[in-house]
Amino acid sequence: MVETTENPRSRMFMRAIPFMLVHLMPLGAIWAGVRTRDVVLCFALYAVRMFFITGGFHRYFAHRSYKANRVVQFLMAFGAQTAAQRGVLWWAAHHRHHHRFSDMPEDSHSPLRGFLWSHVTWFFHSENRRTKSELIKDFYKYPELRFLNKFHLLPAIMLGAVVFFTMGASALFTGFFLSTVLLYHGTFFINSLAHVMGTRRFVTHDTSRNNFGLALITGGEGWHNNHHHYPSAASQGFYWWEIDTTYYTLRLMNMLGLISDLRQPTEEALSKNLVRDGHADIGMFQAHWSKAASALVNTRTQTGAFYEARKREVEARRKTMEEFVVTTKTRADEVARSSRDQIERARMAATTSQEANISM
Ligand SMILES: [Zn+2]
Ligand SMILES: [Zn+2]
Repeated sequence: MVETTENPRSRMFMRAIPFMLVHLMPLGAIWAGVRTRDVVLCFALYAVRMFFITGGFHRYFAHRSYKANRVVQFLMAFGAQTAAQRGVLWWAAHHRHHHRFSDMPEDSHSPLRGFLWSHVTWFFHSENRRTKSELIKDFYKYPELRFLNKFHLLPAIMLGAVVFFTMGASALFTGFFLSTVLLYHGTFFINSLAHVMGTRRFVTHDTSRNNFGLALITGGEGWHNNHHHYPSAASQGFYWWEIDTTYYTLRLMNMLGLISDLRQPTEEALSKNLVRDGHADIGMFQAHWSKAASALVNTRTQTGAFYEARKREVEARRKTMEEFVVTTKTRADEVARSSRDQIERARMAATTSQEANISM
């Protein structure tokens, strides 16, 4: 058996290298320049691809919040995969897993494991690389989706190539790559910030929040507490002031006959488990409790480490003192021995001299 010295951290780092390189690509604008149409393309590709991720990956494939025929279904998956956030089946299965285990130890990207973990690190960890096919059987049966899932970078490469060959290098760096990087973090904020910052309307078994700013940059996904309360709804903004551009686009597609059966939260669901009605917020209680428990463990570990350090210090001082005493005693013995020898030599000399005097 060949033993490998590579540790999981360095493997994760290696996997993240292409992702990091994508972050560097917009710097190509320094060489290629930036034109107004590149900036417009950047905004357009951000908005359109964000819609495919939220309306496709999330609301259709993960939650089945509306119906679509096979062609529209394929186009939604293809469009979302142009954002290079892995395959449709991988994405939707992981998201179903997130709803099943939100903020529990099994959750792939709970911020309770650290903000950076929930935002991006989890994405590269070996435990999250497999498509959880057992959670997405309803879509796994389609060969065209399995093909897309397997060659997940193909749509993104195709889009990048089209942009480059039709609009040039500056459009590629600013229009395509910059919008791809912004899309990464816009989407990832829903896993990280939307479970940390914002308000809670509904009591849920997790830490999800409603956040207006996040809703603006993610096409409505910032109403994450609404979503965790009623995940199968096609809308995530439940009231007119909760801006949800993905839902507006889905309604337009519904009117055009491209999709159908958009699911809505029931009146009963909208008035159930409201925080303002004084329901015990079990999700936040669990989160605070788990933070307190880990703080206690940390304190215990730190106290143990402090005690061990003091013990080592005292031991070192005792050893130094012991060495000092032993050395001093040895020196004293040597001095005493030498002094005794001197006295003995003096006494011998006096005796010899006395004997000499007597004999004379
Ligand atoms: Zn969530
Ligand atoms: Zn969801």
